Amino acid sequence: MDLWYSEYHTENIRFSIRVDKQLYSAQSEFQRIDVFESPDFGRFLVLDGYMMLTERDEFIYHEMIVHPPMAVHPRVENVLLIGGGDGGAARELLRYDSVQRIDLVEIDRQVVEVCKRYIPQTAGCLDDPRVTLHFADGMRFVRSVVGAYDLIIVDSTDPFGPGEGLFTKEFYGNCFKALKDDGIMVNQHESPFYVNDAVAVQRAHKRIVQSFDLSMVYQAHIPTYPSGHWLFGFSTKKYHPLNDFDGPKWKQKKIQTRYYNTQLHRGAFALPNYVEDLLKNVEGIS
Ligand code: SAM
Repeated sequence: MDLWYSEYHTENIRFSIRVDKQLYSAQSEFQRIDVFESPDFGRFLVLDGYMMLTERDEFIYHEMIVHPPMAVHPRVENVLLIGGGDGGAARELLRYDSVQRIDLVEIDRQVVEVCKRYIPQTAGCLDDPRVTLHFADGMRFVRSVVGAYDLIIVDSTDPFGPGEGLFTKEFYGNCFKALKDDGIMVNQHESPFYVNDAVAVQRAHKRIVQSFDLSMVYQAHIPTYPSGHWLFGFSTKKYHPLNDFDGPKWKQKKIQTRYYNTQLHRGAFALPNYVEDLLKNVEGIS
């Protein structure tokens, strides 16, 4: 019997992965949570019918949401990680000796429990003493914080359901306030290729630049995300992602990575013309 997991990337485009079996399925207070076992991508987590991470390619997303800001900021000690209940981003952050505290704000406790049980590859680090789990809405959590963090990483779901509030002007403004004077915010910035995703990119970018004077976008190839072309936002109060990037200094940390490297760091910010145009032409976007 053929078993397949499918999700729609547009109404006319479906993405499917052959699966061996479904390991978990439940409706939490916030979303539908599913975990599957597959021959080619290993185990993978799906929330509300959308692929979140697979054992096979999660290293790309989690390396790329963490190492670029960590390679630019001279010393990150306190991190606010919003979303990210699967633990992958926290795992990459914990590889830096400078990191003393990660406040991980995940709205759905059940995601953490499921990932600890079925995907220890990412969630295995969540018991690290440097990680403090807060089961709360990141949008509310950040409202009460001022000047506390060197780095904020917004590792959210997409801009609907529980994640919607993490794509608002108010949220980005509160992130700006919660950062120290030389802080950096990196966010999961959706995809430029399919029309609806591209509008989400423009909407997020337009709202971010209303709070951050310097906000650039970089990219990575993530096979299991819509179109594979994925973006990240790099918003900063002081350090430029390229001018203040010291590749040799990062290399001296001897952090072994499978995707990120110091040449790719520079290349990731070299966007295709159509993506540059998307980011320039946000006027008509509300
Ligand atoms: N890498 C994935 C992606 O790019 O779509 C996201 C990974 S992670 C699983 C996303 C997490 O964000 C989920 O566990 C979800 O519960 C959490 N989340 C969604 N909205 C949230 C909110 N308002 N506050 C905190 N966490 C939230």
